[in-house]
Amino acid sequence: MRINDVLRDKGDRVVTVTPDLTVQGLLATLAEHGIGAAVVTADGTTVDGIVSERDIVRSLAERGAAVLTEPVSAIQTTRVHTVEPDADLAEIERLMTERRFRHVPVVTGGRLAGIVSIGDVVKKRITELEGEASALSGYITGERP
Ligand code: AMP
Repeated sequence: MRINDVLRDKGDRVVTVTPDLTVQGLLATLAEHGIGAAVVTADGTTVDGIVSERDIVRSLAERGAAVLTEPVSAIQTTRVHTVEPDADLAEIERLMTERRFRHVPVVTGGRLAGIVSIGDVVKKRITELEGEASALSGYITGERP
């Protein structure tokens, strides 16, 4: 299964923020959309960074509430791991497990084309396993699902 298959189901919409947005503004964006991370981009298409709730927690613990008025660029991760739409889903699973992050932006031709979260991966795997279980059960019982 490919990343494209995941994006086909969930769509290619990505919530982005600009690097100069304050951390307070970022909190409002994450809360509004019910998400845990946003891609940081100055021009709306190039990935400049990624910022997740973990970055907020870490910086709050280190520097206190003053962080809330700092720009997102002060707490973002700039070395972002991205994947191409034709990458295998297994590649993203490996990346998330080894690097311990839950979001991977999808990029094609240098432009942001979607985002895949660990929730999307798990959902896709469950659907896949249910399909396999149903096919096996049909094979054993002779009933076609
Ligand atoms: P997450 O588990 O996605 O909330 O992120 C955990 C940490 O990894 C945070 O410091 C994020 O900024 C960072 N992070 C999240 N996704 C990526 C990614 N695709 N590439 C690099 N760092 C990331």
